[in-house]
Amino acid sequence: MPLDLIQTELGRDRRELTERVEDLNARFRHHSAHDVMHGAIDEIDELALVSSFGAESVVLLHMAAVVNKATPVLFVDTQMLFTETLEYQQEVSERLGLTNIRIIRAEDAEVEREDPYGALRLRDTDACCNLRKTFPLQKALVGFDGWITGRKRFQAGTRATLEFFEVEDGTGRIKVNPLAHWAPEDVRAYMEENNLPRHPLVAKGYPSIGCAPCTSPVKEGEDPRAGRWRDQNKEECGIHFVDGKMMRVGEKT
Ligand code: SF4
Repeated sequence: MPLDLIQTELGRDRRELTERVEDLNARFRHHSAHDVMHGAIDEIDELALVSSFGAESVVLLHMAAVVNKATPVLFVDTQMLFTETLEYQQEVSERLGLTNIRIIRAEDAEVEREDPYGALRLRDTDACCNLRKTFPLQKALVGFDGWITGRKRFQAGTRATLEFFEVEDGTGRIKVNPLAHWAPEDVRAYMEENNLPRHPLVAKGYPSIGCAPCTSPVKEGEDPRAGRWRDQNKEECGIHFVDGKMMRVGEKT
């Protein structure tokens, strides 16, 4: 097909996707997180939930399980996670009856080539996140029309205008953020009301949990994400990519 025709097709696809997302946001604007989850699972054919099984992940996992226990759940195991996270993943999956957990890892050959000693993070955290999280997830998302994230507006300045539905640039997928408007109290209340199990590290001072080498406890009064890549100019793992590339969506101030 000639290049100008391909560009026309891509432009039309992008317009259609944007219109669909605008329509979804308009219809669900005043709805609850649960309605957004329900609507997304009903209306987006191939939809995955991407979960880190971190401090607040159980909320979204529970909501998805209420709608459909067979919702595909993509869990990226960077092979740098806390043992507690791996155990918690199994506990939560069993307790909620989730039947379609897919554990995503970088290919052994790539890890062997790029980071044979597990030290890449010491000289380049972005490269390490790309190798262990972003690229494996990109591959795992091929064939999906959309994915559900646990991002919330309050978490970072870079997320302050987050909508329920977004176009993911360059992939033709829709990102769904059912908890976009939730505050920390909403998360706590939902966990209590539904008697959901907590990640064991939360009680040890970790309100936000990623890979073990890049996550430290947070002191009283600190931003909950202050323990992620502490003292580094980095606040996103790069899982939210654009055009197949890691996207630096913000920097610490
Ligand atoms: S969070 Fe740290 S260890 Fe995990 S993938 Fe990123 S740089 Fe590597």
